[in-house]
Parts: sequence; structure tokens; C-alpha cells
Amino acid sequence: MSDRGVRMVMLGRQGAGKGTQCVRLSRHYDVPHISTGDMLRAAVKAGTELGRKAGELMAAGSLVPDDLMIGIVDERLAQPDAVGRGYILDGFPRTVAQAEALAEITASRPLDLVVDLDVPTEVVVERLAARRVCRDCGANYSVDAPPASDWTCDVCGGPVVQREDDTPEAIAKRLAEYEANTAPLVDWYRERGLLETVDGTGPADEVTERLLAVVDARRGG
Ligand code: ADP
Ligand code: ZN
Repeated sequence: MSDRGVRMVMLGRQGAGKGTQCVRLSRHYDVPHISTGDMLRAAVKAGTELGRKAGELMAAGSLVPDDLMIGIVDERLAQPDAVGRGYILDGFPRTVAQAEALAEITASRPLDLVVDLDVPTEVVVERLAARRVCRDCGANYSVDAPPASDWTCDVCGGPVVQREDDTPEAIAKRLAEYEANTAPLVDWYRERGLLETVDGTGPADEVTERLLAVVDARRGG
């Protein structure tokens, strides 16, 4: 365990393994894993005003409006854990407008790095179609690596199901959305000297090793 946290953004296509890797990195560096997708799904489940606004857009694979997302992230990054140690942002920014807002939000405590977790489209399409998640805690499974007993979560006992937006239509929509809105952020961050590209293919443990090496180098050792 390190004595210093990290402030980073994880970019990557849907199904690149961001969620799994972010959980590992957040434990390693002892910083919160801030997933806007998880926050929105929690809001939908709780039936809050945000959840009502976001629910239909998410199910269709569309983006939630920038101003809404920027407000949520601004508020979350102001919490003491994120201010004190840092964070791993997963799912934000997703548009150039969000990246510009994040640069303002973090002006006094800038990002250490942005990682593009790179996995080819053909690979993520297969992964997403096979993905299953725990409805209660969000733990990830797949048809090839199911929970030990009858689609019941190993972690919390909740039901393991297919995400509403992991249907073929919504997957295609989300990947197109990514290419149009989020892929340009790779160049945007490269131009600002913050980008590291990490190969996200192969066994998850190897991907984690690659990520730790890149993050440690950026944190200045
Ligand atoms: P994925 O990356 O697999 O699509 P996420 O869990 O990150 O899934 O996000 C799920 C959905 O939540 C997105 O398809 C989108 O509707 C919404 N969402 C999450 N983060 C953002 C964001 N930063 N801007 C706009 N919409 C977002
Ligand atoms: Zn669970």
C-alpha cells in the first residue's frame, strides 16, 4: 500500500474492463473509485429525481446531459476522501465539454494522468454480450465465468442478471456514442501531456500489472 494516493481518469470502450481494473487500483492506492455509471444506476434504483431523468436515457444507450453529469462529479470530488487522497474517475469525462469542466474543477489539484485502456471493438462486443452483473452490488460475471451457484452473487447473494443496456441494440448505440463523443478525448488529453495508453487485452492480472507500472511512473515514484 502506498502512502500517496492518485488523481486519475480511466478512459476506454464499454467492456474494456474499466470497472474491474478501477476497483483493483482503488484498493491499491486507497482512493475512491468514482463510477458515474454506478452512481446513476444507484439513483435509478433509489427513484431519485436524478434517477428519473437518467433512467430512460441509460436504457437506450444515450448519454445523460453534460450539465447534470458535471454537477454530480463536481459535488463528488469535493468530498473529503477525494480531496485528501485523490480518486479514480470511471465513466467521466465522456465528452469534450465534460473534460473542459473537469479541468476547471481540478484546477487547484490537477490530474496526475489519464489512462486509455485499449481493447479493440471486436473484443469488447463479445465481452459485453456475455457480461452479467449483480443487480445489488454491481459485481461482474459472464456466461463463461458465472457465480458459483445458480446466478446468485458470490459477494452479496443478489441476483446476477444481464444489464438492461447490454442488449445488442444498446451495445451498438453505446459503442457508436463512444467513438463519436469520447474517443476524441484521447487526443485531447494527449495534447495536454496527460495520456498513457495501456493494452487492456489478455488476463486481468497482467492488465493490472501494466496499469500499476504506468501509474507509479506518473506519480513520480
Ligand atoms: P458503459 O461505459 O458500459 O456504457 P457506464 O456504467 O459507464 O457504462 O454508464 C452507463 C450509462 O450511464 C451510459 O450509457 C450513459 O447513459 C450514462 N452515463 C454514465 N456516465 C456518463 C457521463 N459522464 N455522461 C453522460 N452519460 C453518462
Ligand atoms: Zn452482489
